[in-house]
Amino acid sequence: MKTIGMLGGMSWESTAEYYRLANEFVRDRLGGFHSAPILLDSLDFAEVEALQSAGDWAAAGELLAVRARRLQDAGADLLVLCTNTMHIVIERVEESLHIPVLHIADATAAAISAADVSRVGLLGTAFTMEQAFYRERIESHGIHVSVPDEDDRALVHRVIYDELVHGIVRDESRAAYQRVVDRLVERGAGGIILGCTEIELLLTQADSPVPVFPTTAIHVAAAVDAAVGPALTP
Ligand code: GLU
Repeated sequence: MKTIGMLGGMSWESTAEYYRLANEFVRDRLGGFHSAPILLDSLDFAEVEALQSAGDWAAAGELLAVRARRLQDAGADLLVLCTNTMHIVIERVEESLHIPVLHIADATAAAISAADVSRVGLLGTAFTMEQAFYRERIESHGIHVSVPDEDDRALVHRVIYDELVHGIVRDESRAAYQRVVDRLVERGAGGIILGCTEIELLLTQADSPVPVFPTTAIHVAAAVDAAVGPALTP
């Protein structure tokens, strides 16, 4: 089995899910005493958030590249960035490594296509919803992406940074997210990307009238497939 490198701490609330799910997926696939070989490097999110707020993506890319390199040097065979937003600097990370980096949007697009959904709504940070890097990567797989209107984007972003990355999960925020989902569905979305790795701590399939695509679980499943080999089809 290959060793999965996880660059996390963005935030640690979702990185804990990456760690838990990877071990559960390997246990489910291999049984017995098996668990996932993982090297985890967890950043101080305050450092990352300050660079995001300043729009200093060059420094953020440098930070992630240095830490990713450490995981490679320590023996990781592949790497996942445990965040959607920071895929904005994935090219900088990739150019510093010789191991593969599994892009969260590629794994998500594969799950969307497998579910036969062609139009999705995207929830995530303002960076993820408003900048091209994420939407275009999903759309390169032939999937149409729409984002919430300005007020809804502000709400989705605020809940992530004021609540979810601090481990705060509120019923009021879940209800507010459900209203955002309903408006995306009214505009034609046949699925919803939970495009921030903390959103699935708040929203589940039971909260949406259309299929949801939880990027943390999807990304981990792709990493486990890469580490163990893809599941055999029946
Ligand atoms: N974990 C989040 C994401 O998936 C947001 C935190 C961050 O900005 O990295 O985008």
